[in-house]
Amino acid sequence: WVSSYLPCYRRQETGLLADTADGSTPFPTEDKRLTATNAEFFGHPIGLRTLFLTEMWERMSYYGMRALLVLYMTGAVTLANAGLGMRELEAQAIYGIYVGMVYFLAVPGGWLGDNLFGHQRAVLYGAVIIALGHLTLAVPIESGLFFGLGLVAIGSGLLKSNISTIVGKLYADNDPRRDAGFTIFYMSINIGSTVGYAVCGFMGEKIGWHWGFGAAGVGMILGVIQYVRTRHLLGDAGLEPNPMPEARRDQLGRWAMFVALASALVVLLFGTGVIEVSASVFAERLAYALTTIAGIYFLYLYCFAGLNPAERKNVVLLFLLFIAAAAFWSGFDQSGGSLNLFARDYTDLNFLGVDMPVSWVQFFNPIYVVVFAPMFAAFWAYLGRRNMDPSLPLKFALGLLFMGLSFVVMLLAVGVALESAPIGLQWLLITYLLQTWGELTLSPIGLSAFSRYSPKRYAGQMFGLWFLASAIGGVLAGLLGGEATDGGLESVSPIFTYMIQYYFGIAAVLVVLAYFFRQKEASQNE
Ligand code: GLN
Repeated sequence: WVSSYLPCYRRQETGLLADTADGSTPFPTEDKRLTATNAEFFGHPIGLRTLFLTEMWERMSYYGMRALLVLYMTGAVTLANAGLGMRELEAQAIYGIYVGMVYFLAVPGGWLGDNLFGHQRAVLYGAVIIALGHLTLAVPIESGLFFGLGLVAIGSGLLKSNISTIVGKLYADNDPRRDAGFTIFYMSINIGSTVGYAVCGFMGEKIGWHWGFGAAGVGMILGVIQYVRTRHLLGDAGLEPNPMPEARRDQLGRWAMFVALASALVVLLFGTGVIEVSASVFAERLAYALTTIAGIYFLYLYCFAGLNPAERKNVVLLFLLFIAAAAFWSGFDQSGGSLNLFARDYTDLNFLGVDMPVSWVQFFNPIYVVVFAPMFAAFWAYLGRRNMDPSLPLKFALGLLFMGLSFVVMLLAVGVALESAPIGLQWLLITYLLQTWGELTLSPIGLSAFSRYSPKRYAGQMFGLWFLASAIGGVLAGLLGGEATDGGLESVSPIFTYMIQYYFGIAAVLVVLAYFFRQKEASQNE
């Protein structure tokens, strides 16, 4: 069925990306094509199948475990399926730190793939470390939580950015299939998460939390086996790191080792409680730190990177998109936090006489993605043919608008729940539908926009910057979600109202600036 969607995906090149088509390529491409086999994967290089399945299993394990994490941490201690009995504020802060680190570590992970390991090996190491992380979580001891999450975050950092880079490298510079390839790859994410929610969610909630985490580990092991057996199909794509003198590589390796050990020491000091700080305070500081890093980087690019005026203008555009993306993910990642708890505490999960696992409610996001992605692509293409395709800032504004509306629905849902809980499932289903529409207007084009609009010499790093927006969004999600549920239903509305205000506010700024950019361009073209 993937192939039946392909015509739509191909049309995305003229639709979704119409305003970015400057002929540049998101990723540096070696001109060594696969010679081992002429087999194809839905009209794409066969190596895409290897990456598709690896990402699928990785996302199965990531989202499967993420769906359970907050439920496990806040679960009652006394039940048969005992949780850790943590306060919701702290549990969601840990969740936020975890999601933030998964995406933040994609930045150093990408660097290691570029310079030391090569992307292919980085993916392998990442996948193995992720599997070890989930297996650690499968052991029913409380102290395993911290180490397990740490391993999964490190492994994801290595895997997530490098696997996307290899996708780019499968295609020659001017191959028109590239964007379609990325869209197929985005599908693997959602197929994986559907399986993850189904299997890990069921096992974790109905059998035992650690069974669910173990299932995530088994999924990742299947991914590793698949990757090892079919890695040769990737040919040279991402096999070798950037060329440099061996002495220089050794020197970089020593630095990397030093930084890794120093970071491990700091993490250990926090993890073992030698430096005592609550998770919510730590998450807050992390949010500031990540925002500062991003701010300094943009400032550097704008002021000191020796860019020409056109490149500088693009940096401003990317900066705006970055803020919008971070805001967007701060809502999207509520699915594993506050919305997950809302489903557990205030929603009637009885479906056809059977009590559904709480985490199954999250199913609907990936299912909606698979259903609506072709429609969105076709819609953009339709607008593109009429020269009405919205610009990037407008699409991002639309994404935020949908996200804001999803929380308006939640405000109504909270109102109903305050009257009489539990409420029907339809509230969360509509919320996730609106969020998915937002995701589809913002996420698939975001990565592409970051690689295309970035100054050429900085293309690789800008890719990391895109994930940094997800990292900030993840930490904010944990912090806001924690505040929202900390005082029961009463505290939800003020926080969600605040979020709605910033979604709509940023969206409005983007609309105004999009208009301003257009006017300026029009007057320059006259
Ligand atoms: N859903 C996408 C994925 O899992 C994007 C998530 C994100 O960037 N925060 O890869």
